[in-house]
Amino acid sequence: MYCPKCGENIEKDSNYCNYCGVDLETLSKKKKYKINIISVITYTILIISIVLIIYRS
Ligand SMILES: [Zn+2]
Repeated sequence: MYCPKCGENIEKDSNYCNYCGVDLETLSKKKKYKINIISVITYTILIISIVLIIYRS
């Protein structure tokens, strides 16, 4: 895998970059958190749309 900060080729699943010392575990957690928020918003919109369709008919 490549370091998202410095772009060096580093070991897969390593917690820290050997070149720039960036905390990769924290970075990946932030990414997952963002994805979770997006999916929650998507599901909320989907549920609201379904409710609206049911009430309109
Ligand atoms: Zn790096």
